[in-house]
Amino acid sequence: MLDDAGLQALREAARLSPDNLPLRQHLAGQLLAKGYLGEAEAEYRAALVLAPKDAGIMAGLAEAFVRQSAFGAALAALEPLLAAPGYPPKVGVLAARALLGEGDTARAGYRYHEAISRDPSVGDADLAARLSAPPAPPYGAPAPAASPYGAPAPPGQPYAAPAPPAGQAYAAPAPTPVDGATAEIERSRLNFADVAGMEAVKESLRVKLLLPIQQPDLFAAYGKRAGGGVLLYGPPGAGKTHLARAAAGELGASFVNVGLADILDMYIGSSERNLRATFELARRNRPCVLFFDEVDALAARRSDMRQAHTRQLVNQFLAELDGVDQNANEGVLVLAATNAPWYVDVAFRRPGRLDQPVFVPPPDPAARAAILRLLCRDKPLAEMDFDAVARVTDHFVGADLKGVVDRAVEVKLQQSISAGRPIPLSTPDLLAAAQSVRPTAVREWMATARNYVMHSNDSGAWDELMPWVKGKW
Ligand code: ADP
Repeated sequence: MLDDAGLQALREAARLSPDNLPLRQHLAGQLLAKGYLGEAEAEYRAALVLAPKDAGIMAGLAEAFVRQSAFGAALAALEPLLAAPGYPPKVGVLAARALLGEGDTARAGYRYHEAISRDPSVGDADLAARLSAPPAPPYGAPAPAASPYGAPAPPGQPYAAPAPPAGQAYAAPAPTPVDGATAEIERSRLNFADVAGMEAVKESLRVKLLLPIQQPDLFAAYGKRAGGGVLLYGPPGAGKTHLARAAAGELGASFVNVGLADILDMYIGSSERNLRATFELARRNRPCVLFFDEVDALAARRSDMRQAHTRQLVNQFLAELDGVDQNANEGVLVLAATNAPWYVDVAFRRPGRLDQPVFVPPPDPAARAAILRLLCRDKPLAEMDFDAVARVTDHFVGADLKGVVDRAVEVKLQQSISAGRPIPLSTPDLLAAAQSVRPTAVREWMATARNYVMHSNDSGAWDELMPWVKGKW
């Protein structure tokens, strides 16, 4: 960038050669960069007289306006640019800043999201944070974390929509369907505040999923993009699906929960087609969290397969994860869950695929108390001692604790109906319900895991499990 003497020389040159468009444009850009905003505006206006349709000049003028808080003028300058299909993503970010300045958070969120979905490198963490005015949290829960994709929409309506026609209020985006894909696009209302405990797991997903979107420049500098996959593994009911849904909500992304029935088909070739269509569905609705439950059934070790055509599905899955080019899966985050990670083909652990196995452990007492607190938050409650319930629910995972709360609520409802008035849920109710719920098979799962970790821990992939399986179960 020029120093002030250099700028002075440039001003002088432009004065002597007022019709030199590139020179005036260059001067305007330098003035803008140095913060001489009024002068930059004047230069851009002069340049616009010479080239009334020049997109670069219009964008420069709009930026000068935005930085002087003249948001209405900025929007007027941007209007012709935004009307053209495929306008530069930078223009979208500028429009988002102007719209936010005008108080139109919804359309600002849309513009911002749309821009960074096309080019994450234009992301602006500060703007993203300002767009994220928290929506009213349900049941007095803590406010959700800021969505890096822009303002959180009303529950169930995150941003993933085509542009609303000018002058029309922002409406919930309709998911874009794909022929042959049976899985549905969901809008997750959960975020990480709805996932109790699991701090290490949430942190690891934050680094893998959120930061590339919040700090795209930094990641781009290392050749990393927003996308890729994580393999979540652990005992059944520990909260893998819950976590994936919360990750989608945290990102303001669409969520596709892919069940085996959405993919597996008895006809040769059909499963591969279904898988392709499911990935396509995610790509058309990006940013999107694509969640594969029981992924070991779709990604089993090829060496164990007798039939060549069953290997085809695994190959197809790997090909979809890699994408036809490096941009194919940008903004598509694949979360895959399994109770049996050792059955998953090692090829899935290569970089860019499901390269980071993340263990979702059974909850410790503090996490159990936190899960119980979350599960009870919308119920009429007496004074509760969740820690006492956590102490007697050793080996209970999240799904078991949900069973405990559901059971206690059923009993309470019956009592309330008999009494003709609502009776609040109390600690003894939960303690009694805990007696009648049998925990899922964490102990058995740990025994199986111990076998694999001790005897076939290929290349240390399950090292994270070691301290767990050595513990007392
Ligand atoms: P998995 O996919 O590992 O089998 P789920 O995600 O289906 O387990 O968990 C079952 C239910 O348990 C969830 O729907 C949720 O209500 C509850 N749950 C599990 N873990 C948590 C958690 N950490 N915080 C809050 N609720 C949880």
